[in-house]
Amino acid sequence: MPINMDHHWLPFTNNRLFHKEPQMFARAEGVRYWTPEGREILDGSSGLFTCAAGHGRKEIAEAVYKQLQVLDYSPHFQRAAPISFELAEALSGILPEGLDRIFFGSSGSEAVDSAIKICLAYHKAKGEPQRTRFVSRAWAYHGVNLGGTSLAGMVNNRRDFSGVTCDVVHMRHTWNEDQRFTRGQPQDGAWIAEDLEEICKTYGGETIAAVFVEPIAGSIGTIVPPVGYLQKLREIADKYGILLVFDEVITGFGRTGSAFAAQEFGVTPDVMTMAKAITNGAIPMSAVAVKTEIQKAVIDSITADRPELMHGYTYSAHPVACAAALATLGIYKTEGLFERAASLSSTFLDGVFSLRNLPHVHDLRGHGMMSGIQLTPGETPGAKGSLVQRKLFDEGLHVKATGDALIFAPALTTSEEDLSMMIDVLQKVLGKAEL
Ligand code: PLP
Repeated sequence: MPINMDHHWLPFTNNRLFHKEPQMFARAEGVRYWTPEGREILDGSSGLFTCAAGHGRKEIAEAVYKQLQVLDYSPHFQRAAPISFELAEALSGILPEGLDRIFFGSSGSEAVDSAIKICLAYHKAKGEPQRTRFVSRAWAYHGVNLGGTSLAGMVNNRRDFSGVTCDVVHMRHTWNEDQRFTRGQPQDGAWIAEDLEEICKTYGGETIAAVFVEPIAGSIGTIVPPVGYLQKLREIADKYGILLVFDEVITGFGRTGSAFAAQEFGVTPDVMTMAKAITNGAIPMSAVAVKTEIQKAVIDSITADRPELMHGYTYSAHPVACAAALATLGIYKTEGLFERAASLSSTFLDGVFSLRNLPHVHDLRGHGMMSGIQLTPGETPGAKGSLVQRKLFDEGLHVKATGDALIFAPALTTSEEDLSMMIDVLQKVLGKAEL
């Protein structure tokens, strides 16, 4: 029976074009999708950087089914379910030391907005309610709720929504033409972090609540931080009493070769957001981890019998999502997937950098199991990215495109054979002079 596509308004999609040329997935297993017609598509972006352990994991399906039968839902306002404490403890075991108080939501965007409110609550609790301004970075993506839209450095995501966004000042991004084809961290560029110092001098450091960065800027096409850049941000944030927030919605759970990018790059933020691979993408879930003293300050500041943080979601710490997350963490541990990402990275990056001389490749970047393929610009920004994404789909490879950048980041479970099949498709499509 033909599918009636009239009623679903697809997000971040040209719906008119989609109706003409639908691209759908009906089934998934391992690192493969199948279209409704049964055509096989290799998954080069782990879904949407969600399915780090590959698709169709039985352990997660079974944990979800079991949890649905035992406790399908429980509210978390003045009530709780034991499984959420179990998950928070398990997460604190893999997070950087000191980040061990965890607040749950259902999406990366919710995590970002929750983090914003937690930062504001913290400064208020510490007697600095004037710290209401945020700093973020050009080209950043922090989700699409109102806080994340305000932080957005991808201007297209902010442009149509003025009037509802909060006070954010943007630093520069760290990429420049001289870094083209750098594998791993660029050596030069730590000095770009001094933008934060300049902003503190201009606006008054005492007015700034937090600086948000993606340790590796993901959605824009994998921009790896220069050596020393994150360390420098940490120093300046400390100097001015500003909280450092790492948005690890993409970089979390082994993507960089360590559990989190914070550990990979040796810089501990005060607050960290995570989502996506927390449940291997199977059930919506996100979390905000904060340092012990942040939660303590907020809790201790309230003496009346009322919640300390007037914030939370119906689905915060949903027991089924908690079960999915626990099963996912179990897979990561038993299969040593974070270590696997670290050891597979060099083969992965060899494959990515083999695309260097192809006619449509302007730049290649990558770290761990995450890479960006920047296409040579076409006449209309983004048009080539969409076209290439479409051609790759036609040739049997799913890769996410943002503008004219492809974000190639397959599952941490990908075999070398599948990896080389994915690279072959990229070579085939990007190697044709005429797209
Ligand atoms: N933060 C970052 C760094 C992201 O990459 C994303 C999504 O890609 C988000 C936040 C938003 O997550 P969600 O789409 O789950 O709301």
